[in-house]
Amino acid sequence: MALNGKDGCKGEKKISMGSVLVHGATPFDPRTGAVSTPIFQSATFRHPGLGSSTGYDYSRVANPTRDELEKTVALIEHGAYGLAFSSGMGAISALVKLFNPGDHIVVSEDLYGGTYRLFNGFYRSYGYSFSWVDTSDLSLVKKALRPGTRALFIETPSNPMMKVTDIARAADLIHEAGGILVTDNTFLSPWFQNPLDAGSDLVVHSGTKYMGGHNDTLSGFIVHSDKKNEEILRNIQKSEGASLSPFDSWLVLRGLKTLGVRMEKHGANALAAAGWLRRQDRVEKVFYTGFEDHPQYELSRKQARGFGGMLSFYLKNPADVPVILENLSLILFAESLGGVESLITYPLVQTHAAIPQAMRLAAGVNDRLLRLSAGIEDPKDIIADLDAALSRCKEENGA
Ligand code: PLP
Repeated sequence: MALNGKDGCKGEKKISMGSVLVHGATPFDPRTGAVSTPIFQSATFRHPGLGSSTGYDYSRVANPTRDELEKTVALIEHGAYGLAFSSGMGAISALVKLFNPGDHIVVSEDLYGGTYRLFNGFYRSYGYSFSWVDTSDLSLVKKALRPGTRALFIETPSNPMMKVTDIARAADLIHEAGGILVTDNTFLSPWFQNPLDAGSDLVVHSGTKYMGGHNDTLSGFIVHSDKKNEEILRNIQKSEGASLSPFDSWLVLRGLKTLGVRMEKHGANALAAAGWLRRQDRVEKVFYTGFEDHPQYELSRKQARGFGGMLSFYLKNPADVPVILENLSLILFAESLGGVESLITYPLVQTHAAIPQAMRLAAGVNDRLLRLSAGIEDPKDIIADLDAALSRCKEENGA
């Protein structure tokens, strides 16, 4: 029994996303009844005879464990097709090849620094051009469009300033200009947001984050519904070889089973931590989309089902940054997000180091900004850890 057709997708059987996550696209192995998808740890597959195949030839091209993951991710992201890559960057690099040298792409200026490095450091020298704009202001996107613009690439909420772009209006804008919309949905995951439903043409994920969810596996995804693009993307995946390994595919499948419960807890913990931080004297400003006075709070409520587990904050004193990073004990000072363990990042020198200083500062990434990925620990412990680190700042840097 393939559980195709759930949660708004076409098909005979409708079950909710939480159940799809637990059971996957194929709830048990049809041959053995195994409840957990088998790990087909095989590089190659025997052919029954000349000109015939089991459907699998070589694992770079297709593998049954990866297939199950790709189908499951397509279901939860409401697309017809899913492709799994060895990292989020592998997925993003593959999708840029849907375009040609000479094409122009408008990109959110406030986005993961690795994406900036890939676009500006590599694809620009191959002849692609990019404009970096604050996509939460669509009038700026409109201004950046020009003949030859083929795509708008957005991260929403943005990383790390938590600005929200209106996906439906962004889709209308780029479609009118003859291009397509690509949305990096890493921060909210399909549990909280499905950009394809709002008109995005492609969705990309760092599956390393919430989808895998345990800070133990790199992965990346593209989800979409266009048959022609599917042929091109499959060919890129097969030719470049950045496809996800069988074991890592299984790890992400296992992680996905709890995506819903984890996301709810990440969201509740982020709200608790953001609210607490906001009341602290040493904290100047907290950026969290779940605050009612966030400039795009209503937009978030319209296009997403939750606010997610990410927040950023400005300290008043830059000298507090090293003290906090060295004195947190539960929250780990490490570069990633979306896993069960709470992580804190200093974007200026970590995730966003590849972005030129002037551009970082213009986007708000300064030497007083910290980004917190709220894990699923007890919120009291997260807050107590932050409290202890802030008290230490007072001892070292004064009131
Ligand atoms: N997109 C976002 C929003 C990210 O935060 C990251 C990594 O931090 C990536 C893409 C790249 O993903 P990966 O690290 O899996 O290559």
